[in-house]
Amino acid sequence: MAKAQSFAEKAAKAGKLKYKKCPKCDNMMEPYLVVTGELSPSGTWKFNQRRVKVCKCNEKEVFA
Ligand SMILES: [Zn+2]
Repeated sequence: MAKAQSFAEKAAKAGKLKYKKCPKCDNMMEPYLVVTGELSPSGTWKFNQRRVKVCKCNEKEVFA
């Protein structure tokens, strides 16, 4: 029982580190990897990756 409890506590702590609450909308901010493509003048695609934290405040902008 004690082992199961400590595991649950660790999982909860890890979850808290990964998902932070937004102070504005009070929703969880989830990290997303956004990939944008850009066509270069030579005709090849260039891809840019960036990590964004998404919550209610900016989800419409990010997934537009
Ligand atoms: Zn927010």
